[in-house]
Amino acid sequence: MIHDAATLPTPLTLRADVCIVGSGAGGAAAAMVAAESGLKVVVLEAGPFLSPDHMTQREDRMLPQLYWDSGARTTADRAVRVHQGRGIGGSTLHNLNLCKRIPEPVLRAWRRDYGLEFLTPARWQALYEEVEALLQVSAVTPERRSRHNLLLAKGAAALGWRHGGLKHNRSGCTESGFCEIGCAFDAKNNAARVMLPRAVRAGATILAQCQAVRVDHRGGKARAVEAVARDARGEVRGAIVVEAPRICLSASATGTAALLLRSDVPAPAGSTGDGLRIHPAVIAAGDFADPVQAWRGIPQTVECTQFLDFESAHGGHDGNQGRDDKAVDRIWIVPAFGHPLGTATMLPGYGPAHAAMMARYPYLAPLAAMLHDLTPGTVRPDGDLGLRMEWWPDAEDRRQLRAGLRACAELLLAAGASRVLVPTADLMTIKNKADLAAIERLELSRGDLDVTAVHPMSTVPMGDDARSNAVNSQGRHHHVQGLWVADGSLFPTSIGVPPQLSIYALGLHVGRALVEAG
Ligand SMILES: Cc1cc2nc3c(=O)[nH]c(=O)nc-3n(C[C@H](O)[C@H](O)[C@H](O)COP(=O)(O)OP(=O)(O)OC[C@H]3O[C@@H](n4cnc5c(N)ncnc54)[C@H](O)[C@@H]3O)c2cc1C
Repeated sequence: MIHDAATLPTPLTLRADVCIVGSGAGGAAAAMVAAESGLKVVVLEAGPFLSPDHMTQREDRMLPQLYWDSGARTTADRAVRVHQGRGIGGSTLHNLNLCKRIPEPVLRAWRRDYGLEFLTPARWQALYEEVEALLQVSAVTPERRSRHNLLLAKGAAALGWRHGGLKHNRSGCTESGFCEIGCAFDAKNNAARVMLPRAVRAGATILAQCQAVRVDHRGGKARAVEAVARDARGEVRGAIVVEAPRICLSASATGTAALLLRSDVPAPAGSTGDGLRIHPAVIAAGDFADPVQAWRGIPQTVECTQFLDFESAHGGHDGNQGRDDKAVDRIWIVPAFGHPLGTATMLPGYGPAHAAMMARYPYLAPLAAMLHDLTPGTVRPDGDLGLRMEWWPDAEDRRQLRAGLRACAELLLAAGASRVLVPTADLMTIKNKADLAAIERLELSRGDLDVTAVHPMSTVPMGDDARSNAVNSQGRHHHVQGLWVADGSLFPTSIGVPPQLSIYALGLHVGRALVEAG
């Protein structure tokens, strides 16, 4: 059953075999496995329960419901936007459905540096096959590519740059283009559609609008999760406690780290909350003579990987000898979403100048350069209900972002854009190849340019050595019995590709370990 916690009588104490905090990619997969094994499972989810009928395709209505801080979550200095989902299904409710496996050089580097004895190559292979079947992952066929995506392919082909199609987890897609504010047509094979219904059918209880505040652990054992019911306005309605001998934190790479730190869960110095990576992205928009209508069709079906070299970045072929090389290309280019509100907030200026820019909205094709980032950031709790993130790229990551921005601009010119807009504080306009050098001179200091991220990860990096990592490669906490982590926190480093597939995989993996732990 799914309940709205704000309507339940409080204070309330529930007992379960397993309590899972968070119902996104990691939590839903773990909940399904645990419930189907016969365990009594309670899932706590801070966000609301929204069905496809609630998805109005209106940004003003959906952003506050589907996103933390109404879609305005940022790093503490406000220099980087970090979009994260809330609701039954977590960020999978409104993500873009891209599915990619972690590249082998990254996994090899993890084995070299972190051991990960429970995640052998064969184990990853089996998990990926299982998740891809569950989510019906398939290539988006070429005839379904929108003009926006075809322009990326055209520009890359003209320059001879490596590019290709992408796989998604959607079926029955009407190509409405509103994926980022929830699918009104229920065409996403996501946590809410695939895994949580199975968990509920197997007897799991899910509490929506119920935010975990602390993990109660004494004598080295996890005992309960202390939570609060919050209404739609965020007002606290009462206390809810779930007593369970097994607790699995799947509140995302920000929420899980904040919970662990707020609960004073022991960890080797700096291993909880200190390794934040986010896949930051910068954007350039091509202005074309004919309408692009970047808000239409399936978003992000074509990628350009010309500047993404995992093999060299992670120690070459001999994983045991190799060293990671920061200077190697780590940029992935894809079309960026083009909803009206998002575009309007990104374009600089105001008044008539901004209005003139928005008049070109139907003709703009924005591209995003996303970085496989190496700079570590931090997550800390902020009071009982909030959290605080710090992340800003170091000099080498800034150089990569500049290179990515330049590549987007070059690609758009090659695709036929009459000009390329780079949304710096004073709008930069690139009209030809000679202008591209201006991008390389960009300072990229805080506030200069819009930097956005949608993939926070790596805040509780897994590793089999209890002296340097808080959890092992089964997501099991080294220092508190009965405590587990199953979400994007677990990645030891940034992965350089969209993470959902791997987080679902880890959810199944941790869920099974948790069941077997008895
Ligand atoms: C706009 C956007 C587009 C994206 N597109 C893609 C894509 O195309 N492909 C891809 O692979 N990835 C994509 N992602 C990223 C992907 O969706 C996430 O990486 C993935 O869902 C993370 O899984 P998770 O389990 O770690 O966290 P989430 O899925 O974020 O789930 C965490 C859940 O925990 C809940 N929670 C947090 N704190 C608490 C608490 N204290 N108590 C109770 N509940 C709590 C949250 O409300 C949330 O529902 C996108 C993300 C965004 C924002």
